[in-house]
Formats: sequence, C-alpha cells, structure tokens
Amino acid sequence: MSNTAGLAIPCKAAVSWEAGKPLVIQQVEVAPPQAMEVRVKIKYTSLCHTDLYFWEAKGQTPIFPRIFGHEAAGIVESVGKGVSDLQVGDHVLPVFTGECGDCAHCRSEESNMCDLLRINTDRGVMLSDGKSRFSINGNPINHFLGTSTFSEYTVVHSGCLAKVDPLAPLDKICILSCGISTGLGATLNVAKPKKGSSVAIFGLGAVGLAAAEGARIAGASRVIGIDLNRNRFEEAKKFGVTEFVNPKEHDIPVQQVIAEMTNGGVDRSVECTGNINAMVSAFECVHDGWGVAVLVGVPNKDAVFMTKPINLLNERTLRGTFFGNYKPRTDLPSVVNMYMNKKLELDKFITHRLSFSEINKAFEYMVKGEGLRCIISMED
Ligand code: NAD
Ligand code: ZN
Repeated sequence: MSNTAGLAIPCKAAVSWEAGKPLVIQQVEVAPPQAMEVRVKIKYTSLCHTDLYFWEAKGQTPIFPRIFGHEAAGIVESVGKGVSDLQVGDHVLPVFTGECGDCAHCRSEESNMCDLLRINTDRGVMLSDGKSRFSINGNPINHFLGTSTFSEYTVVHSGCLAKVDPLAPLDKICILSCGISTGLGATLNVAKPKKGSSVAIFGLGAVGLAAAEGARIAGASRVIGIDLNRNRFEEAKKFGVTEFVNPKEHDIPVQQVIAEMTNGGVDRSVECTGNINAMVSAFECVHDGWGVAVLVGVPNKDAVFMTKPINLLNERTLRGTFFGNYKPRTDLPSVVNMYMNKKLELDKFITHRLSFSEINKAFEYMVKGEGLRCIISMED
C-alpha cells in the first residue's frame, strides 16, 4: 500500500480553460480511485494530434475546463475496489480505448472495439459514477479520453491500462500508448505485407512513419511515401521509406503515378492523412487481384468515400482500423517487448524533449508541424 492510498492527492496539472488558449499549470486535487479504477503517477507524456484537435475545439464539442493528454507512461499509485490484475508499483501505459475483457468485442479474436471502454471524446467524467476525479477548490475539472495524462496523478479505468515490462524505459515507450501503435498495427495486423512486397504510405506524420516502420519490420522491399509536404521526405528516409511522391508535382492522379511506378499497383497501402482524397487514392493505387488498402486517418465527419465498385470486384480489399487493431491490455505488452528486443525502433520518433512547465511549447511544435513526438517529463 502506498501512504497516499485512499486520500486525495494535491498535485500539478496542466489545465485547459479555453479553446486554443495556453494550458495553465496549477494545483488540482486528484480523488482516490473508485471501483475498477486505478490512480497512476504519470512519469512521461507526449502530445498527439487528438489532444490538439480537442484543445482547438474547432470541429469538436468544446468541453472546458479539461485536462488533456492520452499518450503517456506511469506507475500505479493505488487501486480501487475490484482491481485484481494491477498492483501498486506496476508500470503501465494508459490507453484512450480499453479492454473490459467481457463484451462481444473483447471475446472476439478479431476486434479491439470494446463496448464498455471504447473511445468517447465527449465524456469528461468517469464511467462508474459520472463524476470527475479532478477538482480545484471543490469545482470539477473534466477528464479527456479517460486518461488525462497532463497531470502528475490521474485516475484511469483499469481496463484502459496496459501493464508492461518494468525494465522498459518509460520515457520511450510512452509513445506506444497511441499514435505509434496505431500506425505500426495498421501495417502489421491489418495490411500484413509479405516479405519483399511493395507498400504505399499516405501521410508521413508520426502515424504514417509508424506504418512505414511496420513495413520495414515485415520486410517490404519498396516503401513509397506520399505526402503534400516535401519537408517530410528527408525525415522519412530514416524510417525505411525508399521512394517519394508529392501529388502536387503531378498532373495525373497519384494512384496513376503509383500504378506506373509499380507495374499496376502496390501490394499494400496504408492511409494516414485523414484526407478523403488520399483515402480514395490509397484504395485505388493497390494492385488488382490481391491489393489491400487500410484506412487509418480520421476523416471530416461529413466526408463520403466514393470509388467505382469495379475496383472492389477486381479483387482489391478496403479495410479500416482503430488503434492498429491492438487490444490494449492483451497486445501492448508484446509491442513493448518488440522494442526491448530491438525489433521495433522508437528513438527516431522522438524529436523533442521538454519539462512539464514548458508543455505549451509542445503545442506550438505541433501547430507548426515541427518534429514527430515531443516527450514531456513530469519530474522536472
Ligand atoms: P500528421 O498531421 O502529423 O500527418 C499527416 C500527414 O499527411 C502530413 O504530413 C500531411 O502533409 C499529409 N497529408 C495531408 N493530406 C494529404 C494528402 N491529400 N495526400 C498526401 N498527404 C497528405 O498526423 P498524424 O499524427 O501522423 O496522424 C495521421 C492521421 O491518423 C490523423 O488523421 C489522425 O487523426 C489519425 N489517427 C487515427 C487513429 C486510429 O485509430 N484510426 C489513431 C491515431 C491517429
Ligand atoms: Zn470489452
């Protein structure tokens, strides 16, 4: 038992009071975990686009004040009633989606879309009692994605915590709790390229480069990176991307450019842009007969996917994936092991490091599209 178990913990958190305004680092109280919940001491957190979208709250429901953050790593401080598989001191990755273990999805080998703990961007409270565990002078502060990792302590449903190897460095593996696992899993679990095959990656941000890392691990021989931003190409070389296409530099559709480069189309494609045109191109650029396209990017809510049905009849497959098809609790420990066994490279994704007091700078980097992942240390 830790000596803070059962008590509220006063600690520092970065609170977002208003859309697009700098976060304020201030003292909050973090209530003890209730049934099936766990209180976690966050050691490192990083910033992902989803934090930015909801902080800007442009196309999203504005919910403020709120504590953002969902890509992180930490250590269990105390557990609530009924939690039997996690103990004080366990190293954990909080995940924005969960695994209750009981629902039809959790029981299916194929799905990771848990009914109980599936992502809910509009919920600012805990599931069990509809209340927040964060407060300032008794006034509640909203949670975000059930994780709220921009706080020294947070409370998370135990089904949203993956217990990982305590020897794994938390300042590296924290990036596996969202974007990197998403791209990696999209390739390894869904596109499944064969050794020696060709893979097209649309969008060379962190998610797309993680998909490229998956292609490298799978032994693909050609990895074609497609992006509208030429600056992305240099960085992408470190991720095994062998050829580049900028759709803006061609006057024919990019799917046609790729078909010409590959004698009819790539074996696999993974779309990581969220742009509807890129989604259609990603599908239409795969080879007939066997090509598989996987959509990862989150589109505008009104976007409609249009293609001629003949493209499907000609034996192309279109798939989509959520969190790389990984079940967070069951599968993340083995993704961490891939890093520990040096099969998966993570260091190349980490382009910036900041202390918690500088968290607003991490937002600036992301707004400017600078770098890939910025690790924020909660300790200094
Ligand atoms: P990012 O903004 O860093 O990268 C996207 C890249 O796509 C940019 O380099 C941009 O220039 C490029 N791009 C945009 N439109 C393009 C087009 N038409 N053609 C070619 N390139 C284009 O974003 P990211 O953090 O890497 O995330 C990528 C996507 O993955 C986002 O849509 C994000 O919401 C989504 N995502 C999905 C899941 C999931 O579970 N499905 C999880 C996390 C993130
Ligand atoms: Zn479930």
